[in-house]
Amino acid sequence: MNLDAKAPAGPVEQKWEKHRFELKLVNPANKRKYTVIMVGSGLAGAGGAAALAELGYVVKCFCYQDSPRRAHSIAAQGGINAAKNYRNDGDSVFRLYHDTIKGGDFRSREANVYRLAEISVNIIDQCVALGVPFAREYGGLLDNRSFGGAQVSRTFYARGQTGQQLLLGAYQALERQIGFGQVQMFARHEMLELVVIEGRARGIVVRDMVTGEIETHLADAVCLATGGYGNVFHLSTNAKGCNATAIWRAYKRGAGFANPCYTQIHPTCIPVSGEHQSKLTLMSESLRNDARVWVPKKKEDLGKVARSISEVDRDYYLERLYPSYGNLAPRDIASRAAKRVCDDGRGVGPGGRGVYLDFADAIARLGEDAIRDKYGNLFEMYERITAENPYQAPMRIYPAMHYTMGGLWVDYNLMSTIPGLFVLGEANFSDHGANRLGASALMQGLADGYFIIPYTISNYLAGVKPGAPSMDHPDVRQAQQAVKDRIHKLLAIRGKRSPSSFHRELGRVLWEYCGMARNRPGLGLALHRIPELREEFWKNLNVTGDSAELNQALEAAGRVADFLELGELICRDALAREESCGGHFREEYQTPDGEARRDDERFCHVAVWEQTGEGREPARHVEPLTFETMHLATRSYK
Ligand SMILES: Cc1cc2nc3c(=O)[nH]c(=O)nc-3n(C[C@H](O)[C@H](O)[C@H](O)COP(=O)(O)OP(=O)(O)OC[C@H]3O[C@@H](n4cnc5c(N)ncnc54)[C@H](O)[C@@H]3O)c2cc1C
Repeated sequence: MNLDAKAPAGPVEQKWEKHRFELKLVNPANKRKYTVIMVGSGLAGAGGAAALAELGYVVKCFCYQDSPRRAHSIAAQGGINAAKNYRNDGDSVFRLYHDTIKGGDFRSREANVYRLAEISVNIIDQCVALGVPFAREYGGLLDNRSFGGAQVSRTFYARGQTGQQLLLGAYQALERQIGFGQVQMFARHEMLELVVIEGRARGIVVRDMVTGEIETHLADAVCLATGGYGNVFHLSTNAKGCNATAIWRAYKRGAGFANPCYTQIHPTCIPVSGEHQSKLTLMSESLRNDARVWVPKKKEDLGKVARSISEVDRDYYLERLYPSYGNLAPRDIASRAAKRVCDDGRGVGPGGRGVYLDFADAIARLGEDAIRDKYGNLFEMYERITAENPYQAPMRIYPAMHYTMGGLWVDYNLMSTIPGLFVLGEANFSDHGANRLGASALMQGLADGYFIIPYTISNYLAGVKPGAPSMDHPDVRQAQQAVKDRIHKLLAIRGKRSPSSFHRELGRVLWEYCGMARNRPGLGLALHRIPELREEFWKNLNVTGDSAELNQALEAAGRVADFLELGELICRDALAREESCGGHFREEYQTPDGEARRDDERFCHVAVWEQTGEGREPARHVEPLTFETMHLATRSYK
């Protein structure tokens, strides 16, 4: 597997500028001869589709929701980072780059991270130009707040609805191009297969989710902007529909899958409330700007009303353990700290799996109205779900599965190991290393879509002759048949268990053995149990209904089938990485005070998995990581 990252040589701050100059261009009159498929209409996909259409390429955009505007990006709450330094508090492109490399525990590609920080400033201008209503200060300037892992305020936001506002901006740019006829939009279409011809990505096979019809679309290049795979854990903060099918199909066709075990567990979510829950709710990290996280010091106080516990009997453990970052410690660190105090028997709420997120001090200092202005919709959401009023009692929160730093491997041009297959946004293995900093996913998705893919895809297209292959090509027919056979197989089992019962069980195994803490025996158990579960799936699954109709059971079955394979790869990757870094915490590799212990000698690399055939073990390859500008250092937030 060729893992040439194609990161340009030269000083880090000149790499992107130089690279952009060296990339080949497509003559404006020739652009309309090329067709690009964009799977996904979230920030990465909608931004990318609009930008490519604006350039003159013919774009076909796909999503499984009923409207591109419902892509999961709409759920993002807290904000988007950019090194604008509006606050004059010491921010810079270099500091954002530094914070991101450190936040990711030195497991990301330096050149990509610097480019991301550099582009961040353009993103805000682009979004403002599109009409995104970012929060403003009294004087009219854009406001900022802080997010974890940073000591500056660089997060732009629109109350607790940043994703929604950003997506409306991207959606309008996309709609404009749909109006011009430059983008053809296919909502309610699910990509189920990638078409690869003579080693190049040339198209996709999709199912019309309303009629069940199987369609094939061919093009000159394919982009996947299909989001993260966090729902492999069943319970997560992701929308129910989020899935891994598009990237998993690409993996099965030869695309390398990088760092699947790098998954992010977010510290501030509403705790699990019961057995039959199918979704968890995030309470944005932005709340940690004004709230203090604590648990009682003494177990005897656990039954007491929170506000009746005196100040001296509270353990503000993040402030105690990480005095310089306090409640704004990065997510992986804050999540593990919550787990530790709960393991210690000091967790609050039913089952003892919760910690307090308390606004009492901020309300006393700023007044309830100021807090309502900033976080009103989040408070309302919390109250609707828990029936507790967070203005009067602290919120109860617990870590939950949230984001995936792993994904399809891409080079500096965002191209996967399959020529012509580009991967954008959360779907690629990303610039975040082993842990993503809050408010950096929206930044990355928009950087990929608006600012990177337009240049890098042109470089690729300039080197290939335009024109779709024949629908009769044997590889096209094979891909179509593979989709039909798979659907038939799922429907023909007629067993006893629903897709969601398998999904729930897979999620439990992953959460237990490959969640916030991992160890060799646990991963061994998971690697034994998941194949058993998969075997049972293919013998005992029950999919009701038919294929020629709207069939959510069939949709779920296909996605769970892929999760059952991906779940195993996640555990395999976690087992192979014999170190702790970022969100990947192997209990065998920790410092005496319980922090992650990296092994730079053996593991300073991206692990990339290659499918080697049905029933065979995948091969592990590596892309070494080198740091020319920053130096490998132990990550500390104390
Ligand atoms: C609750 C929540 C809050 C968050 N808040 C923040 C925040 O404040 N700041 C921040 O930076 N990040 C935040 N994130 C993370 C961020 O929202 C996501 O990482 C980001 O929006 C992903 O964007 P995307 O474009 O890559 O994918 P998505 O927005 O997930 O879009 C995926 C698209 O792909 C399509 N798709 C997927 N599979 C298929 C298929 N097989 N066939 C056809 N179409 C397909 C979908 O229909 C959709 O259009 C949050 C995440 C969650 C879950």
